[in-house]
Amino acid sequence: MRKTFLFTLLFLVFFQGFSQANYPKDYFIKPLEVPLILSGTFGELRTNHFHGGLDIKTQQREGLNVVAAADGYVSRINVAHWGYGKALYITHPNGYTTVYGHLKKFAPEIEAYVKQQQYKKQRYTLELFPQANALKVEKGKLVAYSGNSGSSGGPHLHFEIRDGKSNPINPMFFGIDIPDHQQPLIRAGVVYSFGDSTNVDGTDAVKELIIKNKNGNLVANPISAYGKIGIGINAVDKLDGALNNNGIFNLQMTVNGKKVYEHEVNTVSFAETRYINTLIDYERYFKKRQKIQRCFVEPSNKLSIYKSLINNGYLTIEDGLSYNVEITAKDFKGNTTKLIIPIKGKKTTTIVKTESKKTPHFFRANEFNKINKENISVAFPKNSFYEDIYFDFSYDNNIVKLHNGGIPLHRNFTLTFDISDYPAKDKKQVIIASINDKGRRSYASTKRKDNKVYTLSRSLGNYTLAIDSVAPKISPVNFKDKQWLSKYRYLKLKITDNLSGIKSYRGEIDGKWVLFEYEPKKNVLTYDFNDGKIEGVKHKLKLTVVDNVNNTNVYIASFNTK
Ligand SMILES: [Zn+2]
Repeated sequence: MRKTFLFTLLFLVFFQGFSQANYPKDYFIKPLEVPLILSGTFGELRTNHFHGGLDIKTQQREGLNVVAAADGYVSRINVAHWGYGKALYITHPNGYTTVYGHLKKFAPEIEAYVKQQQYKKQRYTLELFPQANALKVEKGKLVAYSGNSGSSGGPHLHFEIRDGKSNPINPMFFGIDIPDHQQPLIRAGVVYSFGDSTNVDGTDAVKELIIKNKNGNLVANPISAYGKIGIGINAVDKLDGALNNNGIFNLQMTVNGKKVYEHEVNTVSFAETRYINTLIDYERYFKKRQKIQRCFVEPSNKLSIYKSLINNGYLTIEDGLSYNVEITAKDFKGNTTKLIIPIKGKKTTTIVKTESKKTPHFFRANEFNKINKENISVAFPKNSFYEDIYFDFSYDNNIVKLHNGGIPLHRNFTLTFDISDYPAKDKKQVIIASINDKGRRSYASTKRKDNKVYTLSRSLGNYTLAIDSVAPKISPVNFKDKQWLSKYRYLKLKITDNLSGIKSYRGEIDGKWVLFEYEPKKNVLTYDFNDGKIEGVKHKLKLTVVDNVNNTNVYIASFNTK
């Protein structure tokens, strides 16, 4: 009996301290030699995911030394047009893996290894898993140069620490120190009503709080309410040395002094990261570009970020009672900002109701849903939606309306067009395009089967068919046909496509494949003469570029080198 009690006690003590205490604090060093200033914190709210690492600023430039955070070996190398671009994964003897993304290039030994594989496979993008210890690295030694490759909006290093199950963990838990003497900002607050008899200030609409600064605390103008409500806030954190809006670390809510909500994003599993769409008010973000995080947990929310919850964070306001709600946003260093929201319980029978649009297509979130009309069909696997919805659908003038982009989806739907009626010539060039609110069409990855084209997507909105009959364009950037290029380091060409986009490119010099690195953000292909793949004086360049419906353009030029 006593033994069990002791064990339970020990277990509880261990478990309580587990979340932060167990990570080695002095194993990893910072991956850059410059002072660390962040443009992105771990766990901050991104589109469809929590940020899985630190975004470290690189003084607005590329080419800074990136060093290994600890001894280990290169376990994975990825070169991609989008995502992390050029990325390096180093596995360490303690079981953790560090990740370095958006690189410009790798350190010489690794770069040579990658180029050899690229020439062997005759492609720029690749994913390599070198044998353990084939590419050993030492703590603090150069492994790469920082860059802006992949889906990066400006030069920076994306740095992650992953555990043995490939789940990223906040690098700050490992002692990666970022100076921060500034408190978070709570920039907005909203109140949501749930249920027929609920009101906030007499309506069931989303109520925006009016927030004022009183003696260092943020205080909202008092509201009256009755029934089941939920509160959401917009909060960001500022760190030392930069103006960037980063994510907060911890969010808590108390009601009359009692904690009813707390969340903290310490680790992000790839399996659950997309449930961020239930944490933020996605529709509001879509309409107003404002990220409100909810201090309540909706039924479809499967995130495991919650440390404390009573009634899932929902508040039940009773008539005649007073409530003092306090929301505290905290950064990793413990700087806090508090928002006080006084609420008075007030029942009313005359609630101003917001209209919710009813349509013929009522979708239950936990069921498979499908609509067929004329030559199209759209199918949603079960649990695509986070909640039941009256789905707004139409198909007129060749435009399919799939509700609007304000509703997030957890899984892909399939939109299929039967194109039997199209002339044979057009069938091969038909694509599915999404249409944005300005009417601009962009290619939706289109697959073909028999007389059908279809696309898989998680983005609702308008879609149509379009025909791409125009081949990609190719133009030289830094040279002319028949030029002497002896002193040139690079050959650069611009490639663009009007609609379906570039599917592939192949560059040859003197009949042999050469490596052209493609930067799709700039539409530029680059060949590096230092690859040393050409001999002699007279050379012929042949570049073949193919779009996603196989329209092909071939560019030929000749040049001389000494
Ligand atoms: Zn990042």
